[in-house]
Amino acid sequence: MTFEELGLSAKVLQAVEATGYTTPTPIQAQAIPFALAGRDVLGIAQTGTGKTAAFTLPMLSRLEQGRARARMPRTLILEPTRELAAQVEESFIRYGVNHKLNVALLIGGVSFADQEAKITRGADVLIATPGRLLDFAERGKLLLTGIEILVIDEADRMLDMGFIPDIERICKLVPFTRQTLFFSATMPPEITRLTETFLHNPARVEVARAATTASTIAQSLVASHGGADKRQTLRRLIREAADFKNAIIFCNRKRDVALLHKSLQKHGFSAGALHGDMDQRARMASLDAFKSGEVALIVCSDVAARGLDIPDVSHVFNFDVPTHAEDYVHRIGRTGRAGKSGVAISIVTSGDEKHLADIERLISRKIDYLEGAALTELPEGGESARDGDGGRRRRGERREDAKAEPKSRRRERREEAEPRAAKSPENRAPEARPRDSSRDSSSPASGASGRAPARPAPREDYREPPRDRRRGREEDDAPVVGMGDHVPMFLLRPVRLKSKVDADEATSVG
Ligand code: AMP
Repeated sequence: MTFEELGLSAKVLQAVEATGYTTPTPIQAQAIPFALAGRDVLGIAQTGTGKTAAFTLPMLSRLEQGRARARMPRTLILEPTRELAAQVEESFIRYGVNHKLNVALLIGGVSFADQEAKITRGADVLIATPGRLLDFAERGKLLLTGIEILVIDEADRMLDMGFIPDIERICKLVPFTRQTLFFSATMPPEITRLTETFLHNPARVEVARAATTASTIAQSLVASHGGADKRQTLRRLIREAADFKNAIIFCNRKRDVALLHKSLQKHGFSAGALHGDMDQRARMASLDAFKSGEVALIVCSDVAARGLDIPDVSHVFNFDVPTHAEDYVHRIGRTGRAGKSGVAISIVTSGDEKHLADIERLISRKIDYLEGAALTELPEGGESARDGDGGRRRRGERREDAKAEPKSRRRERREEAEPRAAKSPENRAPEARPRDSSRDSSSPASGASGRAPARPAPREDYREPPRDRRRGREEDDAPVVGMGDHVPMFLLRPVRLKSKVDADEATSVG
């Protein structure tokens, strides 16, 4: 099968040739002819399969006819994170070099004014995260009634992040007659229901199950005591890694990303970080530094790194074993791409056994311990005992072998890709006011009809996930005993005694 046989336009074929691709990937070969024919497509495919081109190439071909009108984009692509949205924009720029199309990006963390200017000019392609898109639509600054093609990408990730109610609202704002291209790595019941409601007689195309990990990735485990021992284990693994080029290091929590990043820098490693509390510019700068080889290590959280296409990653380290088995598949899928070999090593501490068992069940294989020493055979004191770092937990350091995903971690997962909107003044709409709950905010017509639209305050981009999905996670919450690791300052203050008698009494009591 060649690209010529798929029915793409001459301009698109030229751009594909310039990129150097000779053969369509299976998802491209299957999805492109249906997309070009105007059919709805349900694509079950992970990132790394070439699915971005599977929707951008036919969209470019179809966009050659017609023109965009002010505030009325012609096509809409929904992505769960800003990085993915920016990545899709890059694809449009690459494959669309021979087209004069206006591409607009609507994501949080970027000035409203610039984005508004682009939309006002008229966008052929609008790439957006759901929250920011609804913000614009609700303010009447954007009309979705001209959408000819709607792409919903990474739908299962949208579900994890609580975006499904937003997706449902957006689907109701776009015309019934649009074409929908829908992609998801997995098909949980909530996603199936969504496709049944919003797709019309879709062509179903499917490549490789999400639970499969590439055979080109050498997976292994290393046991650790947790705490400082874990960081030392990681440093040793990096130093000893064979054929090391660069590595993505995953932590389960944002604050641990920051902590580990600092620690690695302190120990002289060239490392960057990527997590949702960083502003968009810092996130893109970190990513670019890693992609260009300026830094060899990048410490990430799941949400920020999900789906990123970084070619040539030699190693993935799971500093924390992920609490959701699918995250393991996505994390290690950052290496061993396009037939290259890769190494994925997970650091395991006591308390990780349950999650590890879930992962092994999902990928239908056992992962071996690298150095033969399983968790149960770990020597007393671990790395710290060996090189005298003490292995004691430092002040402010949390217990890293906590069994489960605490509530705060679940909130982090939602907030991460798009932290609360409007943290900085330029990111805030100048006219932002509290939401007017009395109006029907889902109606775009309020803006079009000439009535002054009520302007809601910028919204958070995250919604609570549906109750049934939350329940499972809440059961995992680790109980906190007493004050946990935290000792309030007032308890550490020295006691001043008034007289010798008092002092004697205090000594005899204490
Ligand atoms: P995606 O799944 O869209 O994130 O794409 C994964 C990677 O595959 C990206 O680096 C693309 O540039 C690359 N890619 C997409 N289509 C092809 C193709 N037909 N041949 C070779 N590489 C491709």
